[in-house]
Amino acid sequence: MSDCLFCKIIAGEIPSNKIYEDEDVFAFHDIEAQAPHHFLVIPKIHISTLNDADDAHLLGKLTLTASKIAKDLGFADDGYRVAMNCNEQGGQSVYHIHLHCLGGRQLKWPPG
Ligand code: 5GP
Ligand code: ZN
Repeated sequence: MSDCLFCKIIAGEIPSNKIYEDEDVFAFHDIEAQAPHHFLVIPKIHISTLNDADDAHLLGKLTLTASKIAKDLGFADDGYRVAMNCNEQGGQSVYHIHLHCLGGRQLKWPPG
């Protein structure tokens, strides 16, 4: 989608601190990290919200990619959180689905 921030990041039109990329997914550090580790995993195809998603394999791949990166970066055993915000009350601000992965500190629950 031409007007989407994360599609532009995938295309390299907007720079990002990339961690991982394959044919389906792209992962990069969040620009406003909320924890010592905070990265996003996104599908390469544009999907606006979780309500628009229907590809179980792709959604599963987002999650497994997050856990693989957490292991690779060395904080998986200490623990981490993955979360996807949906629409306004869910706190979504970028309308290309993305899985947040946060770690490196004690996270509180509920997040608020
Ligand atoms: P949301 O609020 O939609 O769940 O999360 C959007 C996330 O994208 C936020 O954590 C925000 O910091 C991050 N973000 C917004 N713009 C950019 C950007 O240009 N580059 C990067 N790396 N992250 C961004
Ligand atoms: Zn997009």
